[in-house]
Amino acid sequence: MYKAYKFRLYPTTEQQTQLAKAFGCVRWYWNYSLNLCQETYKATGKGLTRGVIQGLLPNLKKEHEWLTDAYSQCLQVVALNLSTAYKNFFEKRAGLPSFKSKHGKQSISFPQNVKIVGDSIKFPKYGEIYCKIHRPITGTIKTVTISKNPDDKYFVSILCEDGLEALATDSEGKAIGIDVGLTHFAITSDGSKYDNPRHFAKHQKNLKKKQQKLSRKKKGSNTRTKARKLVAKVHSKISRCREDFLHKLSRKIVNDNQVIIVEDLNVKGMVKNHKLAKAISDVSWGKFGTMLKYKAEKEGKIYLEIDRWFPSSKTCSNCLYKVAEMPLDVRHWECPSCKTHHDRDVNAAINIREEGLRILSLGTSDTANGGNVSRSGKTSVLSDVVPIEIGSPRTLRAATPT
Ligand SMILES: [Zn+2]
Repeated sequence: MYKAYKFRLYPTTEQQTQLAKAFGCVRWYWNYSLNLCQETYKATGKGLTRGVIQGLLPNLKKEHEWLTDAYSQCLQVVALNLSTAYKNFFEKRAGLPSFKSKHGKQSISFPQNVKIVGDSIKFPKYGEIYCKIHRPITGTIKTVTISKNPDDKYFVSILCEDGLEALATDSEGKAIGIDVGLTHFAITSDGSKYDNPRHFAKHQKNLKKKQQKLSRKKKGSNTRTKARKLVAKVHSKISRCREDFLHKLSRKIVNDNQVIIVEDLNVKGMVKNHKLAKAISDVSWGKFGTMLKYKAEKEGKIYLEIDRWFPSSKTCSNCLYKVAEMPLDVRHWECPSCKTHHDRDVNAAINIREEGLRILSLGTSDTANGGNVSRSGKTSVLSDVVPIEIGSPRTLRAATPT
């Protein structure tokens, strides 16, 4: 199983200069190849394969001698990453790859030959760089990435293979449904609501102030560069706070539960709505789902995403009556059929949990064909459900949906 570690890295001034050159080479090669991919795509409707991109290297190195400032395998990783980015785009998992800017986050990846030496990490070509390794690294080191944030902090991410099989999943134990929202970050089927940490707002305000300052600086001036660094620093602070919050919350949920069910949010689709865009990208639900998933899988627990078209907000979790409309600003409602009073989000979380358990008990997420499946005496929420029950949660270890 793969496991990732991230540590702060402290290169010397000399190493920083070397790394800056390497970042530049990698960025240039990415942008050059991306441009070529775009031209090819325009002309033929196809992308370039990894082999073709990599094949450009020998000539490029002859033309631009400075390209050898980067460790050659770091450049080869670029070819792999770019072809993967295009593959993800063609298979609709991601947007088009974009050009890299020297003002953004910089990184280089080493596919092999990196070693841990005491308090340092030894890289080919760049030597030993001091690193705060605050937890033991287990397994074989695979890819190692050095990154530099726009606020000039360096980090290293180490991907390891620990040689262990992922534990067999077991759906016995507590199951929880999670709904995500704007008023609260996450709402669970047991009625807990988790807020975004309060200090987010403070950082947000600070960010706005620093951005306004930046916008008043003259282009190309020294004070503008300084102001840009300050903005980057706040951005970095916000993202580290958010990451910390997401890690702690996902850890708590995974520790307390055996089955975790969330609604598969098409975050990309929702971001297109500009009013909600900022709030949604702020709360980073996608990242939260990823964290829940790998933490759960690591412990042999079940993580399940259910269809985002499932009407979790509009359905009464008590009698399954479905209301026609549920505007976003309605926080509480009463079921017209059974008169139960609902908290909008908790009701949705309960429905997500029930729907997830129903799918798990059927051993499939396939909801084709007609038929009716009962759920402790109730009819299913979905009108089109699987006709035959093919097992109980206990017999379902192999069929964990992803
Ligand atoms: Zn009802």
